[in-house]
Amino acid sequence: MRAFDYAAEVISEDEIRSRVSELGNAISADYEGRNPVFVSVLTGSVLFSADLLRQVQVPGEIDFLALNRFGESGRISLSMDTSGPLFDRDVIIVEEIVDTGLTLNVLRQMMIDRGASSVATVGLLDKTRRRVTDVPIEYRGFEVGDEFLVGYGLDWEGLYRNLPSLWAILDIEAFVEDRLTLARDLF
Ligand code: 5GP
Ligand code: MG
Repeated sequence: MRAFDYAAEVISEDEIRSRVSELGNAISADYEGRNPVFVSVLTGSVLFSADLLRQVQVPGEIDFLALNRFGESGRISLSMDTSGPLFDRDVIIVEEIVDTGLTLNVLRQMMIDRGASSVATVGLLDKTRRRVTDVPIEYRGFEVGDEFLVGYGLDWEGLYRNLPSLWAILDIEAFVEDRLTLARDLF
């Protein structure tokens, strides 16, 4: 795996591919005969959603929503809503990473309030140690540490979402000073 002083690759493209395929298989088995709607939380989960959906072998639908977060308070609001109703649907929330769990908690409650017949979550990455609220993740890809991650949908100031693997930032200062730090060495 590649590494620099300020950032190191932590989950390779191959590892992601094989774990995403396992998650897709698990979901396919559990939802056999059903028609779930995958609700992808923009923007971070776009790459994961696209890869996951290709590994799902039941007739799934995809919808999107986007959130505004207000600092560390846990308050969030919708900046874009799903295009279809979720009433009576089997909803699977697709998150690239669960950190404090505050966002996911609010989202799950929102789906229940809208009358979803079931709500489950698929989270590619789980920062278990940073959790401040207990929230179930029915399908979990990888447990990760506290480091700030970029790649595979995760950004630093909008950059690095297009990296096919996951990288941990080791020196935040270097990125604060210059957000292109890693880009210069990779591209
Ligand atoms: P939380 O679980 O704290 O409510 O929020 C999770 C959100 O915080 C994620 O959807 C993501 O946008 C952001 N986040 C948490 N950890 C990381 C990380 O390591 N890297 C990046 N780029 N975003 C993160
Ligand atoms: Mg997210």
